[in-house]
Amino acid sequence: MKSISIIGAGPAGIEAAAILAAHGMSVSIFEKSESPLSNITDKAFLFPNFADANDLAHKLAEKLKSPSITQHLSTEIVSLSRNGKGWTLKDNKGQSYSSDLLLLATGYTPFDAHRKEELGYDIYKGVVTSLDMERMIRDKAILNSIGEKPRRVVFLQCVGSRDEKSGNHYCSKLCCVTAVKQAIELKKQLPDTEAYIFYMDLRMWGQHFEELYRESQQDYGVRFVRGRISEASGTFDGRVQIKAEDTLMGLPLKMTTDLLVLMVGMEASVGTRCLAKEAGICGEYGFAQSIDPHMDDNLSAQEGLFLCGTCKRPMTIADTIADARSAATTILSLA
Ligand SMILES: Cc1cc2nc3c(=O)[nH]c(=O)nc-3n(C[C@H](O)[C@H](O)[C@H](O)COP(=O)(O)OP(=O)(O)OC[C@H]3O[C@@H](n4cnc5c(N)ncnc54)[C@H](O)[C@@H]3O)c2cc1C
Ligand code: SF4
Repeated sequence: MKSISIIGAGPAGIEAAAILAAHGMSVSIFEKSESPLSNITDKAFLFPNFADANDLAHKLAEKLKSPSITQHLSTEIVSLSRNGKGWTLKDNKGQSYSSDLLLLATGYTPFDAHRKEELGYDIYKGVVTSLDMERMIRDKAILNSIGEKPRRVVFLQCVGSRDEKSGNHYCSKLCCVTAVKQAIELKKQLPDTEAYIFYMDLRMWGQHFEELYRESQQDYGVRFVRGRISEASGTFDGRVQIKAEDTLMGLPLKMTTDLLVLMVGMEASVGTRCLAKEAGICGEYGFAQSIDPHMDDNLSAQEGLFLCGTCKRPMTIADTIADARSAATTILSLA
C-alpha cells in the first residue's frame, strides 16, 4: 500500500488521515503547532448546535491514535518538491520526508484586524475580534476595557471580507452565523447586556442558520442594524464610539459601546499560500485550486497532490469533514 503525507492536523487533515489509515495506508501527518486542532480549541461553542468545541476536538484527536499514523507536531512544512513519482517535504528544521502521495490540509487564518486601522483594533482596548470573543465566551470572562461587565456589545460584520480596501472581494461565509452564535452566547452569560449586530446583508445559508437568527431576536433580544461602521474611536471612560450609517433608514448614526467585536473573515493560511504557490496550484486570494469544483474538487493539477478543507475556501466544520471524507475516497480509488 502507498504512503501519504498530510500537511495540517485540523479537522480536514485528521479526518482524512483516520480513513486512509483504516484502509491500510501508511500516513504521516505534519502540524506546525504543538498540538493538533488549534483552530478548534480556540473556540467555545460551535454553530449550528452549540456543541462544545473541546468535545469535538477530543473526538477528532482520538482518531489519530492509529498505529498506521505517525504524528509530527511542532513541525512546519516549508517546502515541497517532486521526487520521481512521489513527493519530498522539508520542515523548518531542515529535515526531509518522502512519500508516494501528498494531501494539503493547511487550512485558513483569520483576517488580521490591524489592517483596518480605522476600526481601532489594538488602539482602543474595547475593540476586539471574533477570535478574542470566542476566548472570552469560552473562559466565561466577557469584560470591557476596565474589567467590568459590558452594558452594550456591538458586532460588526464583513471585516476583511467583501471589502475593496483589504483586497478580499469574497464572502467568508461563516461570520454572519458566528456573530449570531456569539450574540446568543453573550446573552446566555449576560442577559442584561445589549447586543447589536451591524450587517451589510445577512447570509444565513446553512441548515439551522435561519432558525438561529430568529431565535437570537425572539428569545434573546439581539438587535440587527443594516449599516456599515466607518470609524471607531475611544472615549475618556474606556468605551468605544462608532460612526455608522443606518442604510435602511438612510440616517447617519453615532453609538457608544463597551465592546466592538470585529467579525474577521477567513484568509488562506501562510502554509496554504506558500505551499500552493510552490506546487503551482495557487488560486484566487492565495487559496489552493482544485481542478474542478463540481467533479474533482479534491484533485489538483499536480498528479498525486490532493486537497481538502479550508485551504480551498471558507467552509464550516461539517463541510470540512465531508470534504476530507471525499478526499480520502478519491485517494483510495486512485492509489
Ligand atoms: C471566529 C470563528 C468561529 C468559527 N466558529 C465555527 C463554528 O462554530 N462552527 C463551525 O462549523 N465552524 C466554525 N469556524 C470554522 C472552523 O474553524 C473551520 O471550518 C475549520 O477549522 C476548518 O478546518 P481545516 O482543517 O480545513 O483548517 P484548520 O482548522 O485551519 O487546520 C489547518 C491546520 O494546518 C496547520 N498548518 C498550516 N500550515 C502548515 C504548515 N506549513 N505545516 C504544518 N502545519 C500547518 C495549522 O496549524 C492548522 O492546525 C469558525 C471560524 C472562525 C474564524
Ligand atoms: S458571512 Fe456575512 S459577515 Fe462574513 S463576509 Fe459574508 S456577508 Fe460578511
